[in-house]
Amino acid sequence: MNYEPIIGIEVHVELGTASKMFCGCPADHFGKEPNTQTCPVCLGLPGALPVPNKKAVEWTILLGLALGCTINEESKFDRKHYFYPDLPKGYQISQYDQPLAIGGSLELSNNPIIQSSNNPIKKKIRIRRVHLEEDTGKLQHAVVDGQRVSLVDFNRSGVALVEIVTEPDFRSVEEVDLFTKKLQQIVRYLRISSADMEKGSMRIEPSISMRKVESRKSKVESGEYPNYRVEIKNINSFKFARKAIEYEIIRQTEMLVHGDTPTQQTRGYVEAKGVTVAQREKEEAHDYRYFPEPDIPPMRWESSQLSAISRQIGELPDAKMKRFITAYGLSAYDAGLLVETKERAEYFEQVIRQKSAVISLKTIANWIINKKVDIEKTSPAQLLEQIVESTVVSAITDSEMETIIKQVLLDNVKAAEDYKNGKAQALMFLVGQAMRLAKGKSTAEILKINIIETIKI
Ligand SMILES: [Zn+2]
Repeated sequence: MNYEPIIGIEVHVELGTASKMFCGCPADHFGKEPNTQTCPVCLGLPGALPVPNKKAVEWTILLGLALGCTINEESKFDRKHYFYPDLPKGYQISQYDQPLAIGGSLELSNNPIIQSSNNPIKKKIRIRRVHLEEDTGKLQHAVVDGQRVSLVDFNRSGVALVEIVTEPDFRSVEEVDLFTKKLQQIVRYLRISSADMEKGSMRIEPSISMRKVESRKSKVESGEYPNYRVEIKNINSFKFARKAIEYEIIRQTEMLVHGDTPTQQTRGYVEAKGVTVAQREKEEAHDYRYFPEPDIPPMRWESSQLSAISRQIGELPDAKMKRFITAYGLSAYDAGLLVETKERAEYFEQVIRQKSAVISLKTIANWIINKKVDIEKTSPAQLLEQIVESTVVSAITDSEMETIIKQVLLDNVKAAEDYKNGKAQALMFLVGQAMRLAKGKSTAEILKINIIETIKI
């Protein structure tokens, strides 16, 4: 009997705002001395009142719009209650039934860099919602004075966190991989987060269940999902996400084949062993006792405000890649590599605006891609200089140079004589003739030097 995976994912992205979500503490917590970036609000002290970060709200809307979502005219924050040492208030300010953005999608195609070309995936993943919440503190397990203790660092507590929730539309590990990489690319294009997985700025939580393939054929595809799902928490690398999902697919399939039904639960991925382990039975929404955050009024949006935010989206990777292919005649592969980061794409366009007619677009693209140009240290002008120099050196050999110069002097005896007699214009004429023979493989300056040297002899 064949089973196929039904996978949905939640992705958390920490926004790169200067301050936290509901207080003025710095949001950049990575590698900072523990508990040095806190205040009564993010420590959850009694009486402290939250004030929402306007930029964080706008950036969440920006991401929602970039993912084709509808922005709810009215949106609000809610309290999500649970007890855990890294959550000082005993609840997290999140969004429940009125998130900022709903109902978008992301197309899994047009990316020859991320997906293998022999089996391209073309599919649309539906996005259920994009909402805004606050991050928790961080637990550290350590040994102090010979005793095993858990320490808590609240620097991360209250950092603005966006959650992107998909529909269960993924049917393979590859689709999840492609989606999360494209999402990271879009977040970086919008410049709302570094989305660095290794720093925890982007975290993936896949929910996996297995369905009999036969049962799908007889029914509407989206209508019939298994009556359980297993969620894997906080995965901080693309590689681990793949491994965790692969492990779950095997684990659940084996159970189903033996007539068991996997339990609805939350599991964690143990990197060292490459396995998932049960953490707790999966909560339902009512377990969190959601209710509207009474200290923050609801948000309402005018269409003029939304269109102002929408204008900040700019050209996204897929559109940019398409334009690079049609406008510059590049291959999909080269265009894909150039638009991999917004910075590299912009650099390429700066270079081609400054280039001379002799250098081809393809040459510039090759240089940026293959020579791994450090675009922060090499200005467009410097890159063009390097290209010209190397082209000259590699394009013409010494003997070719000799042949060209000899030919020019032989064909233009009169001009050579004139130059020897002090007519500067005659030299320019000879250089022009040499340029014609060199067919762009050398520069006027180098040909001039060679002509002067040869005439001297
Ligand atoms: Zn604070």
